[in-house]
Amino acid sequence: MMIYLAARFLTHKRYTIMHHPYTRKEFLKTALLVNLGLMVRPPQLLASAIAAVQPGDLTEEVIYYKKGDAAYEQLRMGFNTRISRFPAVIALCKSTAGVAAAIQYARQQQLPVAVKSGGHCMEGLSGNQGGMVINLSLLNNIAWIDANTVRIEPGCVLSQVYDTLLAKKKLIPGGSCGGVGIGGLTLGGGYGLLARNFGLTCDSLTDITMVDGTGQVRTGSADPALLWACKGGGNGNFGVVTALTFKVHTAPNTMQSLRFRAKGITPAKAKPIIAQWFEAAKDLPHSFFSACIYNGRSTYILLTTTDRTWSGADRFMQLLSPVAGKLTKTKPRPLAEALKVFYGRPNPQAFKNASAGLYKTFDDIKGCIDEVLELVSQSPGMIYQVNTLGGRITDPGLEAASAFPHRAYPFFSELQAYWESEKQGIKLMQQFERVQKAITNQGISAQYRNYPDINFKNFAQLYYGSNHTRLQRIKQQYDPYNLIRHEQSITGV
Ligand SMILES: Cc1cc2nc3c(=O)[nH]c(=O)nc-3n(C[C@H](O)[C@H](O)[C@H](O)COP(=O)(O)OP(=O)(O)OC[C@H]3O[C@@H](n4cnc5c(N)ncnc54)[C@H](O)[C@@H]3O)c2cc1C
Repeated sequence: MMIYLAARFLTHKRYTIMHHPYTRKEFLKTALLVNLGLMVRPPQLLASAIAAVQPGDLTEEVIYYKKGDAAYEQLRMGFNTRISRFPAVIALCKSTAGVAAAIQYARQQQLPVAVKSGGHCMEGLSGNQGGMVINLSLLNNIAWIDANTVRIEPGCVLSQVYDTLLAKKKLIPGGSCGGVGIGGLTLGGGYGLLARNFGLTCDSLTDITMVDGTGQVRTGSADPALLWACKGGGNGNFGVVTALTFKVHTAPNTMQSLRFRAKGITPAKAKPIIAQWFEAAKDLPHSFFSACIYNGRSTYILLTTTDRTWSGADRFMQLLSPVAGKLTKTKPRPLAEALKVFYGRPNPQAFKNASAGLYKTFDDIKGCIDEVLELVSQSPGMIYQVNTLGGRITDPGLEAASAFPHRAYPFFSELQAYWESEKQGIKLMQQFERVQKAITNQGISAQYRNYPDINFKNFAQLYYGSNHTRLQRIKQQYDPYNLIRHEQSITGV
């Protein structure tokens, strides 16, 4: 009944497994055997272990919660309240050993395993119905290995990562929302305001620790193919990443931004502004990020840079000033402060947000943009947004070192919908599908894994492109029983 105590030896107590009192040494050996997959425990023992768990006892390395336990409700929810799932067991893990024990338990019980770090998956793929969810929110330490290397546990959220690193004038390029988990963000790629300067979040990843689908502990240094796979292809596919090592970059001191806003904009007026934005944004220097947004009534263009001189923005300004509306400029702010402006809402909410295609030029969506903008204008609460990629992301060396396949696309689009009432939500979800269909029908063939849409039929090809077959082989090697899975996980060959 003690599988959840995988590393309780740390407390120097004696433990009982199948009525056998274990010394610290014996317990350690048992935990090791379990880790190596050489020892299994009978399911009934595990079931009673679960029943005996006292929720809230955080001295354990893993604690199991099931329906009815006080913490279960809180632990099962993700950031998107549109999605509600009820796993049979939630394993709240505090260490790699705890995760290994939870994996063994799941194998015994034949429970599919979903992995949750920050819980921000837009389609709830870090939850499941009737399986096990391994919750890593307590794995949230950051440790410096040397001045340029940091080991971050997956449950850390971006605001914590930025605060800790920027205090030492260092940085890894992450996303914008402060509540996103570094685990899910990195494993799916990770882009943000500084990606054009420094690459995707996964491009700074130098090592991982992972408990694979068999319960074995792996590292990126010993398994380079696994590290490659985890740079863009690692979301809930091969195992549970329990630590991520990054090389850090020297942080720019400041960031500044400008915004163009045009109000009272019909779809017909929005189209030339958006087309002009594509033209203006394509040649921006690496220190710039830009986004173009239409909400059915206004267009909104954002430009941020870490270059205090705005050097290289002349053409952008020349092309957009006549058409894009009122201009507001901010002064340079210290980077830590400037990033906080984009942290977004901290509290869970109901929404649908998904990748709406990676594009090379405006021509990729020319054939559907009228329909897309018309649908958005008919749907209050819906937002169509295109962001810049490109810059350092296109580096061939970074491309070869990672499974993220879409580096040739300088533009990434997302569709968002937010609502207050259920009725509005149902209508918006229908409109959302129409927009996505219009875009898909244009032959868009690349989507960003970290912005999944459950309705993407050929999701594996869309997310992973030509890397999919290699990822399938890696899946077969590290999770041959397909224990780690969700609706859009990679399957073995
Ligand atoms: C409000 C908001 C803002 C966002 N902004 C950005 C942005 O600026 N840039 C960007 O690139 N993305 C952004 N995203 C998308 C975000 O990167 C993904 O949702 C990301 O996967 C979330 O990671 P998480 O750990 O919080 O999520 P989780 O829901 O915990 O996990 C997401 C996925 O990763 C898997 N996973 C998580 N942890 C592990 C692990 N340790 N081992 C193995 N698999 C794991 C899960 O199984 C799941 O499939 C945003 C999302 C939201 C909701």
